[in-house]
Amino acid sequence: MSNSINFENSYAKELNEICEKCMPAGFLKPEFLIKNYRLAEELGIDNNFIDSKECLSIFSGMSLPKSSIPIAQAYSGHQFGHFNLQLGDGRAILLGEVQNMDIQLKGIGQTPFSRRGDGKSALGPVLREYVVSEFMHSINIPTTRALFALKTNETIFRETEQPGGVLTRVAKSHIRIGTFEYARSKNIETLKSLTDYSINRHYPELNQTDNKYLSFFAAVCDKQACLISKWMSVGFIHGVMNTDNMTISGETIDYGPCAFMDKYDPKTVFSSIDHNGRYAYLNQPAILVWNLTKLAETLIPLIDENKEKSVKQLSEVLQLVMPSYQEYFYKEFCEKLGLNNIDDKNIKIIDKYLKILHSESIDFTLSFRNLAKIVNKSMKVEDSVFRESKIFEKWYKTWKKEINVENIFQEMNLKNPCCIPRNHLIEDALKHAVNGDMAEINLMTKLLQEPFIEKDNYEKYMMPSTSDERYVTYCGT
Ligand code: AMP
Ligand code: MG
Repeated sequence: MSNSINFENSYAKELNEICEKCMPAGFLKPEFLIKNYRLAEELGIDNNFIDSKECLSIFSGMSLPKSSIPIAQAYSGHQFGHFNLQLGDGRAILLGEVQNMDIQLKGIGQTPFSRRGDGKSALGPVLREYVVSEFMHSINIPTTRALFALKTNETIFRETEQPGGVLTRVAKSHIRIGTFEYARSKNIETLKSLTDYSINRHYPELNQTDNKYLSFFAAVCDKQACLISKWMSVGFIHGVMNTDNMTISGETIDYGPCAFMDKYDPKTVFSSIDHNGRYAYLNQPAILVWNLTKLAETLIPLIDENKEKSVKQLSEVLQLVMPSYQEYFYKEFCEKLGLNNIDDKNIKIIDKYLKILHSESIDFTLSFRNLAKIVNKSMKVEDSVFRESKIFEKWYKTWKKEINVENIFQEMNLKNPCCIPRNHLIEDALKHAVNGDMAEINLMTKLLQEPFIEKDNYEKYMMPSTSDERYVTYCGT
């Protein structure tokens, strides 16, 4: 371990056509609010360094280590279906890579891609991203991570005045489908460089395959299908699945208007701007295919000299995405319900279970924990979220025949979190944090690090809101 930090700059050096060098402007009076010592350790960053003045100075953009070549990445994107050529990091600067992981400052001020924006982030969304992304990691869902959250002690102007914040985001990379859309708009050489770079960084084994570009496309499809199935398995709604918010590495990125569903309703939408429910819970798999189609379109020139052949080969891969997603989805739910294998009988059991949750407006997360307790006889059906539902009893009998009752309680509890960042709780904690009281956010962060363990005195953190008011989220700008 070194007591400073040393950056590699492979993206800045190898892909300089699609990024711009830019210095962070920096904040004069920054203050760390949360430090992720565990993640720092994984990255080989020394704890003494984390607590040093130098560290605060670097991660607030006030000073730059010699090894860093700071850049803003260019990208395009289909936002709500409409193409926008010039997006890019408008409020984020990549300092470089540590152990092959990107270290990015989000909310650090203007870049060449800021357009009319100030390049800054409000503190609330910074803390929200910290809590939710670290929770996703703790339930084994691939995601960008959060190393630090700091407040800038500067006011920024949104609809109201708000305190500003900076998140240090750690990711396998920040390459998005939108990065490919941008590179394609430049020229084929740039597109090729980006694809080669992505293969070398994320899928080096594909260099040995016959058509590495087609294999790359198939690998991204597979990673993303698996990712979305995991989101679905915990009731996660990303909220803004634009092509600039989908990574090539298969990590969840950009925790803007995302939220977790309470009552199971496939039509659930939280985002204030998603009027038509494009990114509703149930639509996420279809949008996955839509976004991957956009990636396929950018790759056409790399697959075969003959355009028709290229399109045919890419289409064949695309057609496998939905079946592969379905397989992942049922695998997740088989595990959640302690079912051994994906066969027609178990698929029917899963479908029926979700139908019951829907028709009875049952809390998605609690249902799995209650079910484990019912079968373990530590909870009566009438005290559970299923109450006296007749259809539940019939379902329960069928399900019980398919499971191994002996181990089911432990098995289900290892797969189904009891604690999730419930919308009402996180909103409340953020309100306090923005006013200077971090106690609730710190407690939630801690509880959510061990989301499978029920803790006495913390029942409140497992329960849904008692209010029927519809929860609405806003983009993190
Ligand atoms: P997002 O909604 O976070 O996915 O951002 C969409 C686009 O808007 C990206 O190109 C961002 O860099 C840009 N953007 C978001 N907020 C700001 C801001 N405060 N200043 C400049 N650009 C921004
Ligand atoms: Mg984004």
